[in-house]
Amino acid sequence: MGSDKHDAIVLGGGFAGLSCAVALAGKGKKVLVLDKKPHLGGRAYSFSENGLDIDNGQHLFMGCYFATLEFLKTIGTDSKLDIYEDVVVDYAEAGGGRDRLSCPSWLPAPLHLAAGLLGLKGVSLGEKTALLAFDRALKSMRTGPVPDAVERMTVRAWLTSLGLSSNFQTRFFDPAAIGILNDAPEVASAAGFVQALRTMFFTGRESSRFALAKTGLSELYTDAARDYVEARGGRVISNAKAASLIEEGGRVRGIKTDMDSRFEAGHVVSTLPPWDLKKLGLPAALRGPWETLAPAPIVGATLKLDRPVMTERFLGMLKTETHWVFNKTLIHGTKEEGQTIAVVISGAHKQIGYSPEKIMAAATRDLAACLPEFSKAKILASKVVKEPFATLSPTPGSEAKRPEPGTGMPGFSFAGDWTRTGFPATIESACLSGQIAAERL
Ligand SMILES: Cc1cc2nc3c(=O)[nH]c(=O)nc-3n(C[C@H](O)[C@H](O)[C@H](O)COP(=O)(O)OP(=O)(O)OC[C@H]3O[C@@H](n4cnc5c(N)ncnc54)[C@H](O)[C@@H]3O)c2cc1C
Repeated sequence: MGSDKHDAIVLGGGFAGLSCAVALAGKGKKVLVLDKKPHLGGRAYSFSENGLDIDNGQHLFMGCYFATLEFLKTIGTDSKLDIYEDVVVDYAEAGGGRDRLSCPSWLPAPLHLAAGLLGLKGVSLGEKTALLAFDRALKSMRTGPVPDAVERMTVRAWLTSLGLSSNFQTRFFDPAAIGILNDAPEVASAAGFVQALRTMFFTGRESSRFALAKTGLSELYTDAARDYVEARGGRVISNAKAASLIEEGGRVRGIKTDMDSRFEAGHVVSTLPPWDLKKLGLPAALRGPWETLAPAPIVGATLKLDRPVMTERFLGMLKTETHWVFNKTLIHGTKEEGQTIAVVISGAHKQIGYSPEKIMAAATRDLAACLPEFSKAKILASKVVKEPFATLSPTPGSEAKRPEPGTGMPGFSFAGDWTRTGFPATIESACLSGQIAAERL
């Protein structure tokens, strides 16, 4: 099968691939998107099972996801994302304790976050004085690459070097770090944490707002992106697995699929994660230290309950194996008698090997410990999802291995959340990488 009528081939139909294809189509390019799976959305998609509408994992967006917001606006689905005015995070502790980070709306950034941190009940005034050193350190890295010395430190080592007590770390910094970086503070490099925090603190109040999809993840972007590309002469094909690159005269000319189809175009942008991309038998010019980047898993569960157990949109769970719980009924605005909730365990290197029953046992134990109403609730339906390759594990040294989006070799560019966008491997990094690759092409 030939396809020389296409200007570019984009490998992968997740956030990176679709945002790249949309950016190219918007510039009048005819794009061909290929994805090996039967559905689009990559690592951020939704499906229905057991009477439940399930995201493969709850995804939290931020006000500073500028590239993502641009992508959603272009395809006309930004109204499906709820960006919350209030910057508030509630925490529930095993044993019933509660705390709240509440950042006053009348204060400009970064003072609103400073006020929120000063208002945490579970951290003493003495412990909070370390915020001065934290503020100084963050300001010194306000822009540009994070210094090597910090990149080589783990989040834990960096926070401790600033004099932040272990109690303060446990109650605020750890839940934030594990949510952003998807690995434990003892494992993740401080670089990604610094990149995310400085954007949240120093690029305006709106950057630190939280946002959640009012619909399933797939409904948020996959069909609308496909329609946008196809309306501009492009094509999106699922169940098409790239098996190798077609290379001639030092230039990539297209790809061959595992079914022996050939697709040719002026350029190939790959948004494949590193563990999939390296299986393509790449030319020497594309090989490099990025091949050793490793994944970090996430496990999660969606539970339909016969009664409400929480009133907040989401809660950070402290001192538990489960990290976050989300109120899907409230987030989606569903009218239902009971409540549907979703729990997340990030950096789940241990739990990824558990059976679904064992994951549910951990989740229900933690929910019962943190939410008094949970013990009275009956679980009407549930689904556990394990994502072994959820994100890049951002260990010290990994930043330097991430190739820049849009680089590669003649006829080929790298993109994907894992490329070096100045952000941790997130939806924003994915969308930004796709847009940069499209821009450079
Ligand atoms: C459970 C979970 C929770 C998460 N939570 C958050 C969150 O709260 N906030 C946040 O910002 N991020 C979160 N993330 C990360 C976010 O989902 C990813 O950063 C983002 O979806 C990556 O997009 P991508 O397009 O770069 O890669 P992918 O989505 O992986 O897209 C790559 C595509 O390439 C396809 N592919 C692979 N090999 C081939 C091949 N040989 N041929 C053709 N196609 C191929 C795959 O099928 C896939 O569709 C989470 C991830 C998971 C799994």
